[in-house]
Amino acid sequence: MESRRCYWDFGYFPTPRCIDLGRVDIISAGAISQAALFSLARVPGIQMGGYIFDHDRTSLSNFNRNMLTLRGDVDHLKAELCSSRCAQVFDLTPVAARYSSTHQLSGRVLVGVDDIPSRWVIQRNSPGWVGVSGTSHFSVSSSSHRTSEPCSGCLHPIDDATIVGSIPTISYVSFWAGLSLAVRLLREHAGVPYPREKQHLWLTPLRMDLAHSSMWFPVPACPKCPVGCAASRRK
Ligand SMILES: [Zn+2]
Repeated sequence: MESRRCYWDFGYFPTPRCIDLGRVDIISAGAISQAALFSLARVPGIQMGGYIFDHDRTSLSNFNRNMLTLRGDVDHLKAELCSSRCAQVFDLTPVAARYSSTHQLSGRVLVGVDDIPSRWVIQRNSPGWVGVSGTSHFSVSSSSHRTSEPCSGCLHPIDDATIVGSIPTISYVSFWAGLSLAVRLLREHAGVPYPREKQHLWLTPLRMDLAHSSMWFPVPACPKCPVGCAASRRK
């Protein structure tokens, strides 16, 4: 039986010895955000503070993919456990509530929620850079959005159909979504963001040996962008 091999990297970029990311707000304390925090916390010399929003509590079904979660965390608030588990590295203030537009967001926001209308609200209220990762059909969708670029509403202008019941998950798919988000944040901080033709990454970690397992795309401005971003208005 043949065992295939594959190779992947996110592209080299130089990083300073000490990385102070300043304030970064995080929307969701679920699998994708936990994977991003897990990855970022392993960068030497890194510092970061901000708010982490999530109303949800840990359930047994989260254990295959929530990187910061331990067995004793069942029924604990996800935002609080992320804050406490990262306390040695990051100064995260937990907000045990869904994000709402009454909260003032920082100039950099990480979004780990799959719900499309929630992303529109977050994007609309974000004054600066927004990084978004989600999972769909066992693949990863990861993008980042400066204020001058087409926004996450341009990328996903239509709400997906509501899914009822538990969604099947694979641990490493969520992890790659969070890792992609962490890389985008580090690149933005280092001043080497991905070029426009790589604003969106579609990644299928299930078959990284296939040529189409990773696809980079630009995000075109959508004239019907539900966020009404500057790029869509120019269109
Ligand atoms: Zn837009």
